[in-house]
This record gives sequence, C-alpha cells and structure tokens, in this order.
Amino acid sequence: MTTAVNPPAREAGRLLVGFDADDTLWQNEQFYRLTEDAFAASLADYCEATDLSERLLAAERRNLALYGFGIKGFTLSMIETALELTNSELPGHIVGRILEIGREMLRHPVDLLPSARETLEALAGRHRLVLITKGDLFDQERKLAASGLGPFFDGIEIVSDKTELTYQNIFARHGIEPDRCVMIGNSLKSDILPVLGAGASAIFIPHDLTWIHEHAEKPEGDPRFFEVADLSAVPGILQAIA
Ligand SMILES: [Mg+2]
Repeated sequence: MTTAVNPPAREAGRLLVGFDADDTLWQNEQFYRLTEDAFAASLADYCEATDLSERLLAAERRNLALYGFGIKGFTLSMIETALELTNSELPGHIVGRILEIGREMLRHPVDLLPSARETLEALAGRHRLVLITKGDLFDQERKLAASGLGPFFDGIEIVSDKTELTYQNIFARHGIEPDRCVMIGNSLKSDILPVLGAGASAIFIPHDLTWIHEHAEKPEGDPRFFEVADLSAVPGILQAIA
C-alpha cells in the first residue's frame, strides 16, 4: 500500500531563494565608476581619451571569455586599453598606477544596500537561501566575509557566469524543482532572463548603476517575473509565490 506523504509542515511553502550579491546586497558598480575616473586621470598627460569608456568596455568584452568577470580581468583590460591609446608607448609608472588602482578596488569596503541584512534575517530558516554570484572567487569570498551576511545562507555559489544551465545545475544540486525556486537580482541579463528560462521565478531590483554589459529587455507578460524597488518588498512577494 502506498500512502500519499505530505511534506512536513515546516517544509510547506519553503522555496529556494537565490540572491545575487553585487548591487543587490552590496554596492559594487560605483567602485568600477570611480576606478574608471582614476584610470582616465592617470592617462590624462599621455593621450586624448574622449572615447575611453567605449574602448575599455570593448576590451572587457573581448577578454570576458578568457579572464571571466571581476576586478583582475578589469585591471588587465585597463592596461590593454592604455597600451592601445598610447600606441604601446605607455610609461612603466602608469602601468604601476593602473595596477595600484586595481588593487584599491580589491580592498574596497563592503557597503550593504538598504534592507539587505533585515531581509535575509526575516527569510533565513523559512526558505533555503543561496547566494549566487559571479566574479573573482577570492574577491567574492572577501566581500561575503566582510559583509557579515554569510550565516544567513544555506549555500554559496560563486560561478563563472550565470546562464540558464548554471541555474538548472544549482537547482538540481539542491534537489528543488525550478518552480519552487526564485532568484533576486539587479541584472536582467544574468539574474532574471536565464532564471525564467530555467523555469523559476525572478525578482528584479533595479540599481541606479548597472554595468551596460548587464542590460537586457524586460520580459513582458511573464507571471513569474516581478519587479520591486528594494529588498524590503521581497518577503511579501515570496509569500505570494510560496
Ligand atoms: Mg549584480
């Protein structure tokens, strides 16, 4: 005889809730913008750099497949752009300056976004919370440790990219069906579209500063897509989904 088994009461309504980190839980892009200003200043005496941002972005995009996301790849792309702009006559001390501003980024303090701690505190224990972030492993581990948010998470996933397959693998590894999974983040391209593609729900929290590479069109008419202004609205949405 088989008996239908209901999940234990405490499991009922429990979701896997994925959180992006950079510019969802803590500030990130602002440090890239400040660094780009410092980079432009370091080159001011050596070249006309009116299209510096475009050239730097082009170098980053060229190098993504080799360097991956993160500050170390960004630093190498700054050096490459500087060589390009100076016809390879970049003085050594400017290379040293670029390396230094890259290291400063790797030391930047972790600045939590509003309601980050309170939201995680409210959700911990009620849902399975998983941090899903991409970038340099070492840098993401540093920021997580400095954030003090680590204890709220049941799992940490530092991945090289966020594709539909990345999310399918994460959901499968946690043994949770995609329709019981929700991802929260500031990037339509990385945190929202591939998640919806994998069959889960997604909550978009726009950030004023989002890297142009992460821009994408908003999904239309998808009942599993939500948009809120900040993290404090997340528990209410999860309650509706659960
Ligand atoms: Mg982000």
